[in-house]
Amino acid sequence: MDSTSHLTKDFIRDIIDEDIKNNKYSGRVHTRFPPEPNGYLHIGHAKSICLNFGIAEEYKGLCNLRFDDTNPSKEEQEYVRSIKENVQWLGFNWEDRLYFASDYFDQMYGYALQLVKDGKAYVDDLSAKEISECRGTLTKPGVNSPYRDRSVEENLDLFQRMKNGEFKDGEKVLRAKIDMAHPNFNMRDPIIYRILHATHHNTADKWCIYPMYDWAHGLEDSIENITHSICTLEFENHRPLYDWFLDALGVYHPQQIEFARLNLTYTVMSKRMLLELVEGGCVNGWDDPRLPTISGMRKRGYSPSSIRAFCSRIGVAKVNSMVDFDFLEHCVRDDLNKTSPRFMGVLHPLKVVIENYPEDKVDEMKAINNPEDPDAGTRKVPFTKELYIEQRDFMEDPPKKFYRLAPGREIRFRYAYFVTCNEVIKKNNKIVELRCTIDPATRGGNAPDGRKVKSTIHWVSAAHAIDAEVRLYDRLFTVDNPAGQKDTDFKEFLNPDALEVLKSCKVEPALQKLKPFDRFQFERIGYFCIDPDTNGEKLVINRTVGLRDTWAKIQKKQQQTKKQN
Ligand code: ATP
Ligand code: MG
Repeated sequence: MDSTSHLTKDFIRDIIDEDIKNNKYSGRVHTRFPPEPNGYLHIGHAKSICLNFGIAEEYKGLCNLRFDDTNPSKEEQEYVRSIKENVQWLGFNWEDRLYFASDYFDQMYGYALQLVKDGKAYVDDLSAKEISECRGTLTKPGVNSPYRDRSVEENLDLFQRMKNGEFKDGEKVLRAKIDMAHPNFNMRDPIIYRILHATHHNTADKWCIYPMYDWAHGLEDSIENITHSICTLEFENHRPLYDWFLDALGVYHPQQIEFARLNLTYTVMSKRMLLELVEGGCVNGWDDPRLPTISGMRKRGYSPSSIRAFCSRIGVAKVNSMVDFDFLEHCVRDDLNKTSPRFMGVLHPLKVVIENYPEDKVDEMKAINNPEDPDAGTRKVPFTKELYIEQRDFMEDPPKKFYRLAPGREIRFRYAYFVTCNEVIKKNNKIVELRCTIDPATRGGNAPDGRKVKSTIHWVSAAHAIDAEVRLYDRLFTVDNPAGQKDTDFKEFLNPDALEVLKSCKVEPALQKLKPFDRFQFERIGYFCIDPDTNGEKLVINRTVGLRDTWAKIQKKQQQTKKQN
């Protein structure tokens, strides 16, 4: 897996290549991303977005954004808004091809009338429970409904009366007349329309019958002239039905192709579970940075390009699997490393007084903005007598392998001076201040006599530091597959330490000019971004990910073991 792996083909692109070679669909490629607006999008949807819009781009084809809003009770405008925003933020463009499945309700109804007239659909009076009891089992064929052989005239009359609102919810359904003994359950006279007296966000109260997913989806694809209808694996055994409907109607027929959905460790990806977390107040809304939602990841500081790279590097497959959360973070780090400006910030401040430094002097130290990007230039960081360093960068009684600041030891303050600690000041047995001296000859961070120090730490000037609240995020769950735990509610496995709020951090003044969602690195700590809660009075910063790459480490180890064997 490398960053160019998106150029290598997968089985979906192989199918498309073959179709183009055979001039199927006149060589056209037209895909769609069809979310149901009943929740915010998550990283799994990002995979589908990258696949559908990505394929369209690669083949100079088109990709539609289509809201699959056939279900009136669960859908909301807020979700429509967020989905559009997420797709754009990921870097994709549907141009003028924004569609709503509900705009096709008239056409879908017309097609249903056609099936009825052709004797391929019937109105059934059985209840949902009875219908499911008559479905049979894997080893036993189903039983025909007593209403299965109604005449075309009677079916037409009843179906129209269903539409006109003459019946109550659940009183009747329209079913396709296929085969109650079919080995594939989905083909045992599936329901096409159900009665639901509910208001729809788009069509209001115009309809009281609503199409079922299997019926609607293929028609939507057909109406939009889609060529390759890419969906997740659970629809594989719905494909015969997808094909049957389109063939029975004799309409334009796209090709359904299934791929394995993305699963990630230490999180959940079902909209139902995400909704439960949001509504139950376990997180702060759909865009909580702990969630795997696209809005959450954006707020956490993931870049669109890092998510696209992740989706491309995991590839598409035919078997379900679980992707390591560490790998997602690896892709995020990889991308942010190249693009993030560097700053200094102290999360757990410890005061340092430079005894041989003038009281009022402010010296501007030259700091490199991004060592990975020579064009990013440098900035000035104020150095003064009183500074803050990280508590963990000092130990009064250091163990052998601790090379940072300690009594009597000289180390480097990044971009500034060699500094020696002379005295530790304590209050109630707690270290509250260090007294240090600099070597003025080392300004800029190097000694003219060539002597070395064993470590370099970051700092901020106390007089210039901005106070900040820093929110540290960790895994949302304590187990790698919270949704797959038997007999236990997934919420039991929520990680109580997934959010830690540090209220008194000190950061360098250059951060003042950053805007919400701007991403950066705090040197030696990790990647961060500005939270939109930031306002004139308060600077709020989210930690995106730490610097330590556990995934890369594991990879390295595995490669070494491979070499040894
Ligand atoms: P639900 O969780 O309610 O079953 P869904 O996740 O399938 O819903 P949709 O809005 O129907 O949500 O999904 C839109 C598209 O995104 C579909 O084509 C679906 O196959 C795809 N998709 C959803 N989840 C994933 C996933 N984890 N990995 C890849 N694609 C996904
Ligand atoms: Mg779905």
